[in-house]
Amino acid sequence: MEFSAFGQKFTRHSGITQLMDDLNQGLTAPNTIMLGGGNPAAIPEVMAYLDTQAQQLLKTGDLLKAIANYDGPQGKDSFIRALADLLSKELGWQVGPENIALTNGSQTAFFYLFNLLAGEFPDGRKKKVLFPLAPEYIGYGDSALDEDHFVACKPEIRRFDNGLFKYYVDFDRLEVGDDIGLICVSRPTNPTGNVLTDEEIRHLDQIAQDKGIPLLIDNAYGTPFPNIIFSNATPFWNDNTILCMSLSKLGLPGVRCGIVIANPTIVQAITNISGIVNLAPGSMGPALTLPMIQNGDIIRLSNDVIKPFYQAKAQQAVEWLQQAIPLPQFHIHKPEGALFLWLWFEDLPVHCQELYQRLKQKGLLVVPGHYFFPGIEDGDWAHSKQCIRLNYAQPEADVKAGIEILAKEVLAIYGES
Ligand code: PLP
Repeated sequence: MEFSAFGQKFTRHSGITQLMDDLNQGLTAPNTIMLGGGNPAAIPEVMAYLDTQAQQLLKTGDLLKAIANYDGPQGKDSFIRALADLLSKELGWQVGPENIALTNGSQTAFFYLFNLLAGEFPDGRKKKVLFPLAPEYIGYGDSALDEDHFVACKPEIRRFDNGLFKYYVDFDRLEVGDDIGLICVSRPTNPTGNVLTDEEIRHLDQIAQDKGIPLLIDNAYGTPFPNIIFSNATPFWNDNTILCMSLSKLGLPGVRCGIVIANPTIVQAITNISGIVNLAPGSMGPALTLPMIQNGDIIRLSNDVIKPFYQAKAQQAVEWLQQAIPLPQFHIHKPEGALFLWLWFEDLPVHCQELYQRLKQKGLLVVPGHYFFPGIEDGDWAHSKQCIRLNYAQPEADVKAGIEILAKEVLAIYGES
């Protein structure tokens, strides 16, 4: 059988496929410690709330009614209206239903947006997506129809006395030429837990406006829900911003519900693409969460339950890691949000892929860091081979046991060199 160019590109073993395979292996090999994937924690209070909610909707018949019908290609009307109200009330944004479209997970939205705003244009011009701050989310890297679709900028790295460091956008190095069709950042960032400062966001917005291109902010972990942000970050949106949100990190990755908040032209484009690709986005997530959007419980749960849960876990994991790996070459990115710790082993004697393989053999799954540099052209950049990502949000015993395995291996590797 012969595959088309599309087939060949989309059937190869991408980083995201390896990650999803590993997640699956964890499910089938129960002794594996899963600190690799991006699965959110099943927070008991959130699960109990959703359980009660689901029972009620089953009783009233609303859940069955929702899944027995197709929604429109923009997504469930009542959910979109309730969300527009919530965003207007909570954040003061001028957002109406014409500014919101739903997709089957925000991953799907990136695929649409990256190919809508970059790639080949009818007049033969080519444009790319710019990631102004590498490392960036692994899931972006393969979401383009053509090759050479992404370009990224190396960060400025600032180190702190407490063993932590933080990436900043290096505006002196950042070049935004006419071949850029979209600027894209995740805030908080997967894999690093970085949160771009308000100043960085304002600066990127200004650059995007000056160039007449949109700024995509991937808010999968951000405010107002699930609000897994530990630093002071002001929510940001305007007519030139495409804000992507998700129900996944709230605790519902299985409902595959992504939310795009943008100007009506972008929303209409997403709606039309959705009609072709999906007919309509899934209705289960919107039906299940509609009441909590209408009564504001989604905000209360995010602020009072979800955020403190992750913040405590992040602090605990940093403490354990720093105790277990007392090496001067070991640095942790300042945890400002999301579910991950980004570990930098400076001058690591082996490639992070080998560290990943060795850990996998010992029953620990992490994600090797080199996948998180989509668009970086410098294949020799040592830093991109010295980091790993660890999901700290798994059960405490797993995180502790995983850190023990990691510490043993890393200490041995440095000792060997
Ligand atoms: N954006 C970021 C930064 C993520 O980490 C993820 C998943 O891990 C997604 C988007 C995709 O989320 P979903 O497609 O489940 O909405």
